[in-house]
Amino acid sequence: MHIEKLVIATMHGKERAIGPVLERDLRCRCIVPQFFDTDRFGTFTGEIPRLDSAINTARNKCQAAFDLMGIPHVIASEGSFGPHPFIPLTNCESELLLYYNFDKNYEVCVHEIFTDIRFGSQKVCTLDELFRFAHQNFFPSHYLILQSDLLGAGQTIKGINDWEHLANEFEQMIHRHGQCHVSTDMRAMNNPTRMKNISKTAQKLSERLTSFCPQCNQHGFGEVDIIRGKLCELCGASTNVPTSILLRCTNCGFESPRPIPSDMLYADPGYCDFCNP
Ligand SMILES: [Zn+2]
Ligand SMILES: [Zn+2]
Repeated sequence: MHIEKLVIATMHGKERAIGPVLERDLRCRCIVPQFFDTDRFGTFTGEIPRLDSAINTARNKCQAAFDLMGIPHVIASEGSFGPHPFIPLTNCESELLLYYNFDKNYEVCVHEIFTDIRFGSQKVCTLDELFRFAHQNFFPSHYLILQSDLLGAGQTIKGINDWEHLANEFEQMIHRHGQCHVSTDMRAMNNPTRMKNISKTAQKLSERLTSFCPQCNQHGFGEVDIIRGKLCELCGASTNVPTSILLRCTNCGFESPRPIPSDMLYADPGYCDFCNP
C-alpha cells in the first residue's frame, strides 16, 4: 500500500526530525496540522499533567489530528525521561513513535531507549551553580527552564538560550521567590540531542513501514520481541542468550522468528546459570 500523505501530529518542531526520514523512505508527503496544540495532552514542566500512558497519549494525538485533518495516515510521538530500567544510576530517554492507519484501524509502534541525552534538573542557589549546570547540559544550544517550584504552581520561565538572559531571570527569581530550580528544556526543538534521538526512532519506524507482512501484505511487519534460550556449550541448558528476533504483523497477527546470525552454535558457558551461577 502506498501512503500519499502522512500527517505528523506534533508541535515543537519534531516534524523536522521525523518528516525527512519518512518522506525519503516512503516517498510520501508529510503534513503538520496548523494550530495543533499537543500541550493539552500534558507538558514536561508540570502545568498540565500527563494523565495517560505514553502509548495512549500518542493514540489520542493521532485521533485528534485525524479529526482535524481527515487524512487516514497519522504519526504521533511521545518522549519520556527518567531512571533507566536496567542500568543503575543512569537516566534515559524513551522515545515512542506511533503510526495509526484510520482506514484499516491498525497501528505500528516502535520505541527506543537512549542514554546519550541532555536531561536534568536541580535546585540552584548561586550563579556559579547555575552556570555549571548550564555548561554540563550544552547550554545555549540546549535551552533551559527556570522554575520557582517544581509543581508548576509558581513562576516558570521557558525558552532561555542566552547567558545574560539566564543570569537576569535567575537573579529576579531568587529576589522574588527566594529559590530557583533549573531544568533542561525537553521540548524537541530546544534540545538538539533529543531531536537526534527522535530521528533515530523515525528511522526504525520507517524500516517497519517499508517491511511487508508475508501473509496479508500489509506494511508494519517487524520486530516485536527477542527470543532467548541459546543452549550452553558445556551442559546444554538453555541460557538467556538471544537466538532470534520475533517478527509480527500488527494487522493480521502473523509471526515469524528471524535467527540472529552468529558464528557460535552454542552459548558461552559464561552466560549459563548452571556452569557460571
Ligand atoms: Zn552450562
Ligand atoms: Zn499480516
